[in-house]
Amino acid sequence: MRVDVLTLFPEMFEGVFNASILGKAKDKGIVDLQAINFRDYSNNKHNTVDDYPYGGGGGMVLKAEPVFMAVEDLMAAVPQGKPPRIILMCPQGETFTQRKAEELSQEEHIVLICGHYEGYDERIREHLVTDELSIGDYVLTGGEIPAMTVIDSVVRLLPGVLGNESSAVTDSYSTGLLEYPHYTRPAVFRDWEVPEVLISGHHSRIDAWRREQSLLRTFNRRPDLLEKAELTPKERKWLASLSKEEQ
Ligand code: SAM
Repeated sequence: MRVDVLTLFPEMFEGVFNASILGKAKDKGIVDLQAINFRDYSNNKHNTVDDYPYGGGGGMVLKAEPVFMAVEDLMAAVPQGKPPRIILMCPQGETFTQRKAEELSQEEHIVLICGHYEGYDERIREHLVTDELSIGDYVLTGGEIPAMTVIDSVVRLLPGVLGNESSAVTDSYSTGLLEYPHYTRPAVFRDWEVPEVLISGHHSRIDAWRREQSLLRTFNRRPDLLEKAELTPKERKWLASLSKEEQ
């Protein structure tokens, strides 16, 4: 997969692209990660990429031209194939979810555009991008941290990135539920014991316990997820009995 980020602060990506799982994925050749400064595409002698908003008001607006030019340059440089997904990082966009990360992990090439200032020239939104993504209902200074969030969650899903020991399959949201609790050695820490079933060596009992804990945790913390989760009739009945107990 190829990932290009258009940003005014490419140096912010140096640590993130070279450390931990992203760094390993890059070293293994699974992903090519590039941060491109779209200021390089400014067409004026002061290298500005923002301007005052038509109609007045506070804040500056990111100009259309440098962003279009940077994307067009990228498209001309990459081999012809499936066109990339061009993603605008924006607090007004679709809320980013694990489902969206899974969808994007199927792409060959994604381009993320990081905003700054008050907003974008609307023509970027209307005529250049394929997706607009928000990482949540709050506003950050720029799109860099949101773009890092998206890239990390997409790249860890690519085949060969995570070892078997840390598979993404059982992660929260991948299954539609929150993940079950984990314990590690020692079996007793300050008189707090690990649940007996986990040291029993009985795999089917462990699987059943984990499924039950996952359901319980989702019921207590994110009951909204249960509506769409794939549950057996027995599990639905059990959860309904828990709801009655609560009343
Ligand atoms: N005035 C804009 C508004 O009200 O929608 C907010 C602009 S914000 C200060 C500057 C940039 O940060 C945005 O263009 C976007 O790239 C990024 N950004 C801020 N919050 C974000 C979020 N929750 N998700 C994704 N990007 C965000």
